[in-house]
Amino acid sequence: MSARKPIIAIDGPVGVGKSSVAASLAERLGLVYIDTGAMYRCVTLMAQRAGLSLDDAEAVAELAQRIGIHFERRDGGLRVICEGEDVSEAIRAPEVSRGTSPVADNPAVRERMVALQQEMGRAGGVVMEGRDIGTVVFPNAEIKIYLDADPKIRAERRHRQLIANGKPSDFEKTYNDLMERDRRDAVRPVGALRVADGAIVVDSSHLSESEVIEQLYHLATNHPSWTPSVC
Ligand code: C5P
Repeated sequence: MSARKPIIAIDGPVGVGKSSVAASLAERLGLVYIDTGAMYRCVTLMAQRAGLSLDDAEAVAELAQRIGIHFERRDGGLRVICEGEDVSEAIRAPEVSRGTSPVADNPAVRERMVALQQEMGRAGGVVMEGRDIGTVVFPNAEIKIYLDADPKIRAERRHRQLIANGKPSDFEKTYNDLMERDRRDAVRPVGALRVADGAIVVDSSHLSESEVIEQLYHLATNHPSWTPSVC
């Protein structure tokens, strides 16, 4: 019997609800939650602040090499700390979201982010969420999940969320943006989004968030790697 807590890798497309599901699952299982998309967002934010062109692959890679990123749990939430600054809100700005694709396409940036992620999860006991966790970062993760949902349903959820938050939203535009981000995730030269070997595919199109969390909780706690003595 292993004394190591498992790694749970959760991958899936934009707008599928991975972050909230992964955060709640980690909380329930007593594991550490790691949002890898936030790391690509940190590099994007810092490159934008430094006035770099995001298409200048060499300059952005050089910045990614020396950037310090870590996560802190505070007031029940996950805070993203970059170069000593809490950037949790700043990395969600629309201009950062729009800038992430060329940054995440950059192989040298990915190499550095993957190394940091492997270091964060080295001892196990993490729920790590992103696009390439089960394929590249931790192909030997004990539990691999691919969370999916119909693109129209993902766009509809995002549209309703924006309206509920008092933000302007046009369904057609939200849908087209999502399809474009899906396309970029799929064709990325390194770390493209795909179902990892051995991953369990969970389609959340017709499930509520709590039903998805419940399903993943049962998958994790019934998995052979999960024993009450270690977790
Ligand atoms: O998930 P989120 O929208 O925060 O991801 C930000 C950006 O980082 C997106 O462009 C996404 O495709 C990319 N990403 C990635 N690999 C990951 C996580 C996110 O390329 N493991």
